[in-house]
Amino acid sequence: MSGPIVIAVDGTAASGKGTLAQKLAEHFSFAHLDSGSLYRLVALGVVDAGGNPGNETDALAAARAIDVNGRDNVRLRSAAVGDAASIVSAHPAVRTVLLKFQRDFAAHPLGGAKGAVIDGRDIGSIICPDATAKLFVDATPDVRAHRRWLELTQRRAEPDEAAILKEIEERDRRDRERTASPLKPAPDALLLDTTHLDIDAAFAAALALVKPKVEEALKAVP
Ligand code: C5P
Repeated sequence: MSGPIVIAVDGTAASGKGTLAQKLAEHFSFAHLDSGSLYRLVALGVVDAGGNPGNETDALAAARAIDVNGRDNVRLRSAAVGDAASIVSAHPAVRTVLLKFQRDFAAHPLGGAKGAVIDGRDIGSIICPDATAKLFVDATPDVRAHRRWLELTQRRAEPDEAAILKEIEERDRRDRERTASPLKPAPDALLLDTTHLDIDAAFAAALALVKPKVEEALKAVP
């Protein structure tokens, strides 16, 4: 393929796609974009302005105003903001604003890197349909909830695993059922089920899947 090298890493909530994307970017010295954080920033913008995530006008105003450098990471990663992100992300006008940002990132990866790794829900299907390599990462909801629970126990006293599972399932349902760019694997995405893999094994599997395509594409880059 010609054009910039892009690895699209899509997948379900808490599937580990962000960690895998980060590790792939480090491995190839590519730039990394966590597209979910853009939707989370929009959600935070709506909430902080006293708006309603379900209202398209409120969400669009927040999308137009996001500051990708000004992140409040603790609030951004919270379950409440993730939930609101999955509501604002269903508005087509919000997706249109963020589509441009993501495509610009793919065309001009930060720091002059030779490629970009972008993780999200619709990177391989809508944002970069010509991506060099596409992964779709998934694991059973129980396993994803347990991993998120383990992660939270290191930061918070008593996370509720059943509540985490419910939130993950609800977010996946909303992401799959929306009309605008629903969560689904691109037809040419390579599926990676990490249910029985720890992070090192998942990374090894992800790398084995994308490496031939990425190395081939790198040969064409001066
Ligand atoms: O990946 P993360 O959990 O941070 O994403 C938060 C929410 O943002 C998702 O549940 C989804 O609704 C939305 N999102 C999206 N398209 C993307 C990335 C995230 O709709 N490419």
